[in-house]
Amino acid sequence: MSDIIVIVPHPDDESALCAGLILRAVKKSHRVRVAFLTSGTHGRTLGLVPQKALAAARRKEAENATRSLGVDDVHFLGYNDFDPRRGKKFAWPDARKKILSAAGKISADTVIVSFPPNGINGHPDHVLCSKLAQEIAEEQGASLLYVTTNGAEEAYMMDAASYLKSQQRRKLHVAASHVLKLTPEEKSGKLFALSHYRTQAVSVVDFIRLSKGNLFEEYYTLAPGAGAKARKLLSGLLRPCRH
Ligand SMILES: [Zn+2]
Repeated sequence: MSDIIVIVPHPDDESALCAGLILRAVKKSHRVRVAFLTSGTHGRTLGLVPQKALAAARRKEAENATRSLGVDDVHFLGYNDFDPRRGKKFAWPDARKKILSAAGKISADTVIVSFPPNGINGHPDHVLCSKLAQEIAEEQGASLLYVTTNGAEEAYMMDAASYLKSQQRRKLHVAASHVLKLTPEEKSGKLFALSHYRTQAVSVVDFIRLSKGNLFEEYYTLAPGAGAKARKLLSGLLRPCRH
């Protein structure tokens, strides 16, 4: 049994980007944990809940979505997310320590799954999350697996004022090293997980539309320095990409 921890900033990132990997790892009896850095308090409510009740609603959605993927080991760090109305970024003090104390040990046997350095779309929380995942991997000797989009990232790219600019996003882009093509069962599981995010329905349908053929092909990049155990684990879950 191996150990995977998915570290993402927003409830819904895990289902959108790596539901297939989670489902497959759980099926093969690997230990899978998910840590959400923020509660997504500044997201849309779609009038379904008052803004001040959004954090609790998104937490419930995330619990149901991850449970549907077979994961019960879920942790909410409760940091503030980027506020697009005020363009305000928040720091996440002591996030490394808090993740370790909430989610438990991360060691050389752990594979951390998180955003690549450009955050895919340059979103400040995605970029910060990637940096944090790199720091934790380095500190704990864990292996790092980035979720990527195999060149389809232009579809998610935005030039919102506080996002990374396109030139920098391209500079920080990492090419996919592995692919996971979802089975019919995994496809249903991914859509079912996404369907729990009612308050985020606009983001979810935008993601589905912009993903086009890539919704059911997940791409990953194994960061340099991955251990032999991580390579072995991944060879049982993913296929290397042919370039
Ligand atoms: Zn996100």
